Amino acid sequence: MIAHTPTLFAAVALVATILAFCLLLVGQFNRGDNLLLTGCGLLAHALAYVCYTLFGHAPLWVSYVLANSLLSLALAFYSASLFRVRERPVPWRPIFAIPLLMLLGLISLLETVEPRMLLAALVLMLQCVLILYWARQRALHKGRAHLLLVIGAGISLVGLGMRVVAVLAGTAQEMRYDTSNLKQTVSVAIGTATVMMYSIGLVLMAKERSESRLQHLAGHDVLTGTGNRRAILERFEFELEQARVAQYSLAVAMIDIDHFKRINDVHGHLAGDEVLCHCVRQLQQRLREGDSLGRYGGEEFLLLLPRTEGEGALAALNGLREAMARNPARFAGLEIELCFSVGLWCGVPGEDDTPARLIAKADAALYLAKAGGRNAVRLAA
Ligand code: GH3
Ligand code: MG
Ligand code: MG
Repeated sequence: MIAHTPTLFAAVALVATILAFCLLLVGQFNRGDNLLLTGCGLLAHALAYVCYTLFGHAPLWVSYVLANSLLSLALAFYSASLFRVRERPVPWRPIFAIPLLMLLGLISLLETVEPRMLLAALVLMLQCVLILYWARQRALHKGRAHLLLVIGAGISLVGLGMRVVAVLAGTAQEMRYDTSNLKQTVSVAIGTATVMMYSIGLVLMAKERSESRLQHLAGHDVLTGTGNRRAILERFEFELEQARVAQYSLAVAMIDIDHFKRINDVHGHLAGDEVLCHCVRQLQQRLREGDSLGRYGGEEFLLLLPRTEGEGALAALNGLREAMARNPARFAGLEIELCFSVGLWCGVPGEDDTPARLIAKADAALYLAKAGGRNAVRLAA
């Protein structure tokens, strides 16, 4: 099927315009993400195709120079959007220097046919290769969004490659923007697919990023960055089941900073916050790979040590306690000494042992450690 090329250009322009306005509208309210940049890219894409439809009716600097420079600008915006969605600094100058160079190059080659076609196609191909490279380099995980971008850039390379081959084969006239033939139909259809793939790929990437942000927020304590109560309890369920099935000993430690209220009262709440962060850093530095730490409450932390017997757990917790006593927190030039008490439960969990039940046992041991004068580790009966 051979379609009327200028009509196809107009169809691509229409699709890109609709997508651009949707994204610009949504991007207005989410200025931190990449939707606005993707919307700008789509707008430039749409304008480029409007200029292509004018080929033969408008001066060449509009229908060729401006059209291809706008397409190059669209790819520059998509590239910037890719950096933005990965929360990396956007290299604005090199990215936007390419469309500028395209503009200058095409102006100087305006009177030629093959050289200007070759320049336009090769510059656009370079930008597609860069998008492919950056998409692979910046992918958090190579999911659906990444795949769409790779396909978009890949097929775009095929479409542009067809133009390069036509020039090299001496059939450049077949690829004039006002000529309708099979090659043109395929080439413009590829252009349409590219617009869809780039825009949907970049929007999906924004979605993936906010999902991973929300997932992180849902499982982490905002102040200290360690797992929150929900996350550590979920982990507890998992570790308990593992220990029950494999019949190994699990150590459950409830850690509570001693006289923390006093630290707040004497040094202020900001100092208290810093002490909490310091405590987490100190603990995390000394844990084994399979151990899990979470903030259970205000200044209470739940620590799970899989495959750990009573004696080993006591030694590990006492080691942590002594390390904490040796390393005071620092705030506003002051050294703030701190210590904690630990209630410990240790054993191979039975059928009746639930997280709530084991936490209650560790809590009871913690109460004894506090009552015994603090800065101590007590093993539950
Ligand atoms: P004990 O040795 O018996 O554990 O005494 P304590 O002072 O540590 O315990 P208490 O439960 O009386 O006080 C805990 C304090 O922790 C009270 C609360 O204001 C404070 N706190 C809870 N969460 C935060 C927080 O995120 N930041 C700060 N700065 N303080 C917090
Ligand atoms: Mg407490
Ligand atoms: Mg306390």
